[in-house]
Amino acid sequence: MNRQRRSIIKTLSRALRLRCPVCGESSIVHSPFHIKHACPACDALFKREDGFFVGAIMANVVTTEFVILVLYVLCLPVIDTRFDLVLTCLSAVALLFPVAFYHHSWSFWLGFDHLVETLPKAS
Ligand SMILES: [Zn+2]
Repeated sequence: MNRQRRSIIKTLSRALRLRCPVCGESSIVHSPFHIKHACPACDALFKREDGFFVGAIMANVVTTEFVILVLYVLCLPVIDTRFDLVLTCLSAVALLFPVAFYHHSWSFWLGFDHLVETLPKAS
């Protein structure tokens, strides 16, 4: 149990830093909004198959909706008097957060996939 917890924390830490979930040696980002095909250090495959990116998109959408929900609840005390401002702010968050969270959604999805079933090798 303790070993599993350490593995989860290590993978989560690597995901937060956008590092390879398997070895943590290399970044998963090739260039802005482009994820590497595989890890240059350990050869773990990041883009496994067609449609693998759907999990990263799902992680991004779910996180964005959660953030908007939390912000909405925090804005409830002022929503009667500042409805237009709240709506504008939440709309801006809905548009900007998924863009800002793009790399981390990929990183968390890869980490989750690594924990469930280890990432395969590229070669
Ligand atoms: Zn690696």
